[in-house]
Amino acid sequence: MIKDFSELNIEEKFLNISLERVTNIKEFRKPERLLCEYICSNILRNPIRCKQCSAHFCKPCIDKWLQSKKLCPKCLQDFIPRKVESILKEDLDDLLIYCVNKPNGCDKEIKYEFLYKHEDSECDYTISICKWCDFRAILKDVKLHEATCENKTMYCLGCESEVNHLQFQEHYIPCLEKSITTFRNKIYNKKIHFSKNIHHRNNNISLDGNLIARQTVNVYNKSGAVILKPKLKLNQCWSWKIRILKLSEWIGVGICDYKTIISKSCTLTDSEIENQDNGCIMISSNGITWSQYFKEDNFQQGIPFTLNQIIEIIFNPILSELFFRIENENKNLTIPNNNVPYFYPVVVLGSTGDAVEILSSKRLSK
Ligand SMILES: [Zn+2]
Ligand SMILES: [Zn+2]
Ligand SMILES: [Zn+2]
Ligand SMILES: [Zn+2]
Ligand SMILES: [Zn+2]
Repeated sequence: MIKDFSELNIEEKFLNISLERVTNIKEFRKPERLLCEYICSNILRNPIRCKQCSAHFCKPCIDKWLQSKKLCPKCLQDFIPRKVESILKEDLDDLLIYCVNKPNGCDKEIKYEFLYKHEDSECDYTISICKWCDFRAILKDVKLHEATCENKTMYCLGCESEVNHLQFQEHYIPCLEKSITTFRNKIYNKKIHFSKNIHHRNNNISLDGNLIARQTVNVYNKSGAVILKPKLKLNQCWSWKIRILKLSEWIGVGICDYKTIISKSCTLTDSEIENQDNGCIMISSNGITWSQYFKEDNFQQGIPFTLNQIIEIIFNPILSELFFRIENENKNLTIPNNNVPYFYPVVVLGSTGDAVEILSSKRLSK
């Protein structure tokens, strides 16, 4: 008959080492010294001694006893705990004990100090239950059963869930491929849009669905810059298209370095755009081009654009350049763009009412 100790907790099992389980008891003088004589009568576990009468008890046994009775079970005086002598510990360590699962087939005799470890985690004859079904047997057989249990599941990294092992082979690869594609699309579909968090010094810019920007108030007649997101990194290639919806005086499009756009609170005056240090590379509707990288003069003749026209801008850090193209016109311009690590796409709205729309954006490289 298979004995089921699985309902007992591990402490209870160890309060259960009866003298009969010790195989070398004859080697010990006065073996009763090794017992928790007055409470459980089994071999001592975590022994502790009474100061008054020197009787030994299992620590769990005496703790439980004192909860109701307060006095030492032997001498009936107040129980004052003391450590046990080392000789007793040495004797205990020399005991050889049959595994608790002997009735189930374990023939191991284990030294006292290793018994806990063996019975807790090493013994193949402990009663256990299949992880996936109700099959119950000794651990050895459960392990064999589990290898082929029809309810067995395996973890799929693709869908992050457990999948029946019979279906796993055909599930795994397609599922993983699908998740990689989804992941890749998530990256590549990242769109450029206007930043919601813009606080202009002087201007009011309204954003419509994050794709249309319009200057509504222009207090000091300064141009308002609107940043687009995300920040462009030097190792990423992007393309985006902007349509001019309303144009009074001038509008600029291009990129600007992070430092400038933040320090100027998104409001750039003409002279700030022209400043050699501010990291702008921009073309303006009136045909002027600014770049911090122009050698002598930082503004030069560029490609003018006007109402309803569409400007495509390609940020190509690999070739260290910024490319502008006016759609349906035979006009384009390439401006070198050296190693400034972070840029924002930027639109500068010159006057009240000026408006632009982002038509499309795509990331062309990883
Ligand atoms: Zn005991
Ligand atoms: Zn006592
Ligand atoms: Zn065992
Ligand atoms: Zn099973
Ligand atoms: Zn999956």
